[in-house]
Amino acid sequence: MRVLVAGGAGFIGSHYVRELVSGGYEAFAGAEVTVLDKLTYAGDLANLEPVAGRFAFVHGDVCNDELLAHLVPGHDVVINFAAESHVDRSIASAGEFVRTNVQGVQALMQACLDAGTPRIVQVSTDEVYGSIDAGSWAEDAPLAPNSPYSAAKAGGDMIARAYARTHGLPVSITRCGNNYGPYQFPEKVIPLFATNLMDGRTVPLYGDGGNVRDWIHVADHCRGIQLVAERAGESEPGEVFHIAGTAELTNLELTERLLDALGAGWDRVERVADRKGHDRRYSLDDAKLRGLGYAPAIGFEEGLAATVRWYEENRDWWEPLKKRAEDAR
Ligand code: NAD
Repeated sequence: MRVLVAGGAGFIGSHYVRELVSGGYEAFAGAEVTVLDKLTYAGDLANLEPVAGRFAFVHGDVCNDELLAHLVPGHDVVINFAAESHVDRSIASAGEFVRTNVQGVQALMQACLDAGTPRIVQVSTDEVYGSIDAGSWAEDAPLAPNSPYSAAKAGGDMIARAYARTHGLPVSITRCGNNYGPYQFPEKVIPLFATNLMDGRTVPLYGDGGNVRDWIHVADHCRGIQLVAERAGESEPGEVFHIAGTAELTNLELTERLLDALGAGWDRVERVADRKGHDRRYSLDDAKLRGLGYAPAIGFEEGLAATVRWYEENRDWWEPLKKRAEDAR
């Protein structure tokens, strides 16, 4: 079996690849793995260092039709993690988000169609639905994205759906809540706050801190994606699967847990103006995937403690990334 992982050098894609080539997903044991990644600021081969030499790497752009026409044929499974993923960056400048998250999906779907790829997974987000004050979205809820990031992701989902409806392309779409875990770029809230606190700095808390996010450990997210990938040939073309988190927390509650974990007080919290168009709450109903046997395995307390420990023990990984990002501002 040959598996192509687009965006496999980023936070979530690299977790998937490390697990896959280490035999963590039994149904794909022994798979030959190709990683396609543009290595943007968010992608780094250091994320794949623990499994170096056990996969083929192609440095390239998911929007490159010619490259994809050569690369995709021969792969039995294609999983697309490649994206611009940071909401704040999409507010500052949205062009690259539309290119990678919409046009990139179109290019990949077309290449898969031409190659007759039997199983495809498009990795997406709960943010495509907009904001929900109470209750949870089912997979057929209307899309109402509010940020350029989520709008571009919704565009990619719609393109994948169109290839499924028009051509019968066997693509499944997964939508997940906020991920945390090792190797997450230190611009996202958990590693940003944790590493700032480790360095004796303050942490910037948006608005009233009342925004609610549903947190999931990256290992649980990837196990959900894997289950969907295993079934992708049998699912309805274009079918959507939710992968929900294990801890619904306001940003105030999350901040409190990180302060506790690092022995810091509220004096280290700096209130900053709210993010523009900041969605109040996301929540997914994951009954469908649970009905197929999925259940998250990592509780938030345990997962957060392990993640904070990982950042404490891996300064060599995050210090240069953070410095580069700060110098670029
Ligand atoms: P990330 O930013 O850490 O990684 C993205 C990867 O894609 C990087 O390796 C980057 O180099 C690569 N990439 C970007 N543009 C590319 C291009 N044009 N061609 C090839 N490669 C390119 O993102 P992540 O947090 O790992 O997210 C992975 C996927 O999961 C994204 O599609 C994201 O929308 C989705 N998702 C993320 C979360 C989350 O909480 N992080 C939650 C739900 C869904």
